[in-house]
Formats: sequence, structure tokens, C-alpha cells
Amino acid sequence: MSSASGIRSVAVIGAGTMGGGIAQAAAQSGFEVRLADAADGAAARALAGIGTRLRKGVELGKVAPEAVEAALGRIRLERKVGGAAAGADLVIEAVPEDLELKRSLFREVAATAPPGALLATNTSSISIARIASAADPARTLGLHFFNPVHVMSLVEVVTTPELAPGALAAAHAFVAALGKEAVTVRDSPGFATSRLGIALGMEAIRMLEEGVASAADIDRAMELGYRHPMGPLRLTDLVGLDVRLQIAENLHRELASETFRPPGLLRRLVGEGRLGQKTGRGFYVWKDGKAVEPDVTR
Ligand code: NAD
Repeated sequence: MSSASGIRSVAVIGAGTMGGGIAQAAAQSGFEVRLADAADGAAARALAGIGTRLRKGVELGKVAPEAVEAALGRIRLERKVGGAAAGADLVIEAVPEDLELKRSLFREVAATAPPGALLATNTSSISIARIASAADPARTLGLHFFNPVHVMSLVEVVTTPELAPGALAAAHAFVAALGKEAVTVRDSPGFATSRLGIALGMEAIRMLEEGVASAADIDRAMELGYRHPMGPLRLTDLVGLDVRLQIAENLHRELASETFRPPGLLRRLVGEGRLGQKTGRGFYVWKDGKAVEPDVTR
């Protein structure tokens, strides 16, 4: 299967958390995938992870048994970025969140991918225009996937004024071919999801600081009152308090809005190494992957 846009072959650069997930989604949807990573063994580890997730999917009845080998057979590992990009109709970059790294990668990709190939970055916070200006802005856009990619249906398609006509439609067709839902967002700090999610998260922490309600009650209020699947403090624990602090600092600076000023409580908890689920303590105490008791009342 290929998308209506004529995209058949997809290069994924960076085979970490996101690259592995994106490669899996594309291969499962019938695209030929070339997966490259700069670190020795990383692409092979990603492929093994994809196999594990697919087999788990079979156990859960979500993946047809014959689809496992078919999907794995569509993924080719490449040693070099250029080798992956050559012949690709779409290149998706998923290397770490570092502007200079991404700019130099886009220079290499623009020089090695076919002239008509679409170039996408999975950045979660860097301006697309700043990445694109290194190489070829007319064919560069954001395709912001969510973690874990095989579970999350949203993709933010991030556009710039320089994007060539037709590129946006091609990106939407690709997202639809993955069976995912696209929203279109102008290239602006935090896109749609981080901007709204961080605004809610920072306000919830301020409310906790002011003693408006306990962490558990603030979360329950949004879960039951607004049908959010997870309250903003529990979500902050899952994402990582340090990660959210960094995003809030970026948005505070870029948007010059007090909405995003990180509350003192968040800085204090990060300073104490209470980073959420990954360290076992954040707004909750975490045991065996579960939040067992509220840890912060003020
Ligand atoms: P990660 O650290 O898990 O993976 C990055 C991979 O890129 C590593 O395997 C690394 O070896 C490889 N790499 C580094 N330099 C390279 C190069 N020059 N060429 C090829 N490969 C290179 O990172 P991640 O969590 O997958 O994040 C990747 C991107 O996706 C970042 O921009 C991040 O902001 C964004 N993102 C992450 C998430 C998330 O929840 N993890 C969600 C949405 C978007």
C-alpha cells in the first residue's frame, strides 16, 4: 500500500524511542522503510524492539500473525544517513533535540535524498523554520509523532510559509495512510499540544502550591469533570518533571507569557531529584509503575 501522495519509501533517521516507533508504523502500513542511526547497533536494537512490540500485538489480538514478518521484511537497516535518504520519497528525522545536530543532518539529507522527496522533522520544540533554513525550506515540515507511536493516533503536521504547494497535502495523506489523525499547526513555539498541555500543567502546580486542593483531587477534577484520561500532575510525573520544566522555560522565553513561568514548586522538586515516575517520586510516590500515594500536598 502506498499513500495517495505517491510516497512509497520512507527513510527514518535516528532509531531511538521515536524513530523505532515511526519505522514500525510505516512498515505496518505497507511503506518500504530504511532505518539509520549513527550509534553502533542502535538500528538493530530498534528492529528487535519492533519485533517484540509486533509479537505482543499478536498476543493481544491487535496484529495479524502474518503481519509480523511482512512488516519486519519491509524495514532495511542502513549504516549511513545518505544510504537511507537516497531513493526515499519521505525522510523523517528523529535524532536528539539539538538544533545544530538537526541542521547539519538536514543539510546531508537534502543533498542525498531525491529532489522531490519530502523532508520532515519529529522535533517536539524546535522551530521548523530554524531547522529548515539550513537546507531546503520548500520541502521541509514538521511531523510530530507521540510516544508510544504504535499506540498514539495523533500527528501534528507543522507548516511554514516557505513550504511548497502540495507538501502539506502529501504529509496529510501519509499520516492518513498510517491510520493516524493529523492536525495542522503553524510553526509556533510548543505547536498545539505542548502549549496547551504545559499551560494546564503549570497552573495545576500553582494550584497545589497555593493549597487549592491536593494533587489527587486536582487530577480527579480533570479526569472526572473534563474527561481527561489522566490529570495534569500525574501526567507531569509520567513525562518527567525535568522534561516539563525545560519545555516550560522554553515557552516562557519564546512566547513571553507568564502562563508558562515555571512555578517554584516544580523547580524545587526537580532540584531535589524528584523527577516523577522514573525516579519513583514526583507529585506521587510510584511503585511497580503505579502512583500509590500523593507525595506533595503543598
Ligand atoms: P532518542 O535519544 O531515543 O533517539 C535518538 C537516536 O538518534 C539515538 O539512537 C541516536 O543514536 C541517534 N542519532 C544521534 N545523532 C544521529 C545522527 N547524526 N544520525 C543518525 N542518528 C543519530 O530520542 P527520541 O526520544 O526518539 O527523540 C527523537 C526526537 O523526537 C527528538 O527531537 C525529540 O524531541 C522528539 N520527540 C520525542 C518524544 C518522546 O516522547 N521521546 C515525543 C515526540 C517527539
